[in-house]
Amino acid sequence: MTSTHTPIWRATVLTLFPEMFPGPLGISLAGRALASGLWTLEARDIRASATDRHRSVDDTPAGGGPGMVLRADVLAAAIDATGLPQDHPRLVMSPRGRPLTQARVAELAAGPGPLIVCGRFEGIDQRVIDARGLEEVSIGDYVLSGGEIAAMTVIDACVRLLPGVMGKLESGTDESFSDGLLEYPQYTRPQIFEDRGIPEVLASGDHAKVAKWRRAEAERLTESRRPDLWAARPIAPESGKKRKPPKITTDG
Ligand code: SAM
Repeated sequence: MTSTHTPIWRATVLTLFPEMFPGPLGISLAGRALASGLWTLEARDIRASATDRHRSVDDTPAGGGPGMVLRADVLAAAIDATGLPQDHPRLVMSPRGRPLTQARVAELAAGPGPLIVCGRFEGIDQRVIDARGLEEVSIGDYVLSGGEIAAMTVIDACVRLLPGVMGKLESGTDESFSDGLLEYPQYTRPQIFEDRGIPEVLASGDHAKVAKWRRAEAERLTESRRPDLWAARPIAPESGKKRKPPKITTDG
């Protein structure tokens, strides 16, 4: 007999600071979903895999230079000790990684849940990245002091896409990046704020007009703020024809 049971999405984090978790992931949308068992989180201490009497996890960079590097042997042992099956994507947070996109987030959310390695110091010995097939992922072109906040970013972005987490199904489909565009501006009460009104069309009750205005605003914002997204958008608005979707690769 085949089972229809879907395994619960599982995030496993390897960190030198497991006490940072769940942190913000324990609050609001993600936190409620965690408490109600829609996903699970395990933060594991890399130091538990250290073998010397000082429980050291890092050493000086080969070739010299400042700072320390996380050791390949300790980190490999920590990864192996998770016992996670191969189908769980293995990420390592890194400023030199491929930038995280909503498309990659959607793929990760649709899978069994990632193993995420959080770097510290100057980074991680390249050999463990190669030997364990870690996918280097960046959350932006700036340098954080550690991978934990970056890992939380990945997990938060995934968790909100899990079935049953968001209230309305639409809230995930109509927002920034879902259609290769940034989201249109939002308005609510009061009707007048410091002499500023709400665009008339939004009070028209004409759903087609509202949708047209939103689409135009989304295109205007995307073209002016994100020429990279604009060039790669999947749909050509002027022709209504489908463009070739941007290629998403996750290999090194
Ligand atoms: N020496 C590294 C470099 O120049 O690329 C920076 C190391 S950083 C101080 C320490 C750790 O923070 C990294 O190993 C990584 O895990 C994490 N980190 C920093 N910035 C990040 C970013 N933009 N995206 C993802 N992880 C980041």
